[in-house]
Amino acid sequence: MQLSQRITHITGGGSDGWDVFYKARRMIADGEAVIELTIGEHDIRTDPIILGAMDDSARGGHTGYAMVPGTQDLREAVAERIQERTVVPTTYKNILITPGGQAGLFASHVATCNAGDRALYIDPYYATYPGTIRGVGAEPVVVRTHAEDAFQPRAEDIAAEAAKGAASLLINSPNNPTGTVYSAETLEGIAAVCREHDLWLISDEVYDTQVWEGEHISPRSLQDMSERTLVVGSMSKSHAMTGSRVGWVCGPEAAIEHLVNLATHTTYGVAGFIQDAAVFALDQGPDLEEKIAEPFRRRRQIAREILAEQNTVGLIPAQGAMYLMLDVRATGLSGEDFANSLLDTHKIATMPGESFGTAAHGHVRVAMTVDDERFAKALKTLVDHAQTLAE
Ligand code: PMP
Repeated sequence: MQLSQRITHITGGGSDGWDVFYKARRMIADGEAVIELTIGEHDIRTDPIILGAMDDSARGGHTGYAMVPGTQDLREAVAERIQERTVVPTTYKNILITPGGQAGLFASHVATCNAGDRALYIDPYYATYPGTIRGVGAEPVVVRTHAEDAFQPRAEDIAAEAAKGAASLLINSPNNPTGTVYSAETLEGIAAVCREHDLWLISDEVYDTQVWEGEHISPRSLQDMSERTLVVGSMSKSHAMTGSRVGWVCGPEAAIEHLVNLATHTTYGVAGFIQDAAVFALDQGPDLEEKIAEPFRRRRQIAREILAEQNTVGLIPAQGAMYLMLDVRATGLSGEDFANSLLDTHKIATMPGESFGTAAHGHVRVAMTVDDERFAKALKTLVDHAQTLAE
């Protein structure tokens, strides 16, 4: 039986640059002591106080169907958080609760793209982006950024693609995989392109609590942008709740009304006890968010100190998120060859820049997700390895 093109084409086919990752996973399964610096999973688990709230809620009976758009309490808590950060009036009617940010990304593209529409996104990109766009039947169109700009997108490059016709633009700041936090100038440029070419802006802000340098600006707060922006957020990174699958889309009321219809016909909502735990977690305020972000802030500093002592491996500023993008071009190897040789020689697993598109070739992404001591040791080994290769 034939399956639809929409589903069979989600991955795009061919090598996706994730071979090193799968090799590391096989080595671990075979009992080898691999240091895993690949994916964005905290090295801590969800805080016991959040689990306590989840347990109380479930035992208190919140195990039936929850309201499809999200519970009133969680929608209000998210709206309040967004209003505080953007100063844009935001109510529960602007919020749909989703099973994680990924579901929010998918729903946002369903909401903004017709079949065959061009949907823009920025390279390097989070691995699911092109598949998400293909999954809704739209055409993914990449806009490249450049290492020499620290991967800040250039408005003129986006405008050149938008001028050929596009329905949406997907951005992500703080950025996975580059650690770049988009500057006010970058975001103003992007907003101007969206207004001029009548684009929906889908702003993936799942790392908004992980900012080490500069300031996170949500484009929802820019002039005339709240009516054409869908912000995707999540509890995964901010509260170490990756497995709970709880996130949101924030947008104009009319868009959210339609997104609620989509949720009714797809996910049918998010577990009530998970939503209650999310309300509890948000009620803890910024202190808990800072506690969860703190290890990454610390490790970024450790990395800066190690990297400052040499000039073979370059560091893209790493202004935010739980990753470092390291430039290993001085070794003469591609990111993929470097990552393979580091894994084979030293059992340290990193992600080749090529796993995230073409713009980060000759780079590797390091997730700062092991304890400080092992992290420092792994990074020193990575630097030594690069130096040996560069000689
Ligand atoms: N966007 C980005 C940039 C991510 O890195 C991730 C997770 N790694 C997500 C969205 C999705 O996160 P979740 O579905 O867990 O909220």
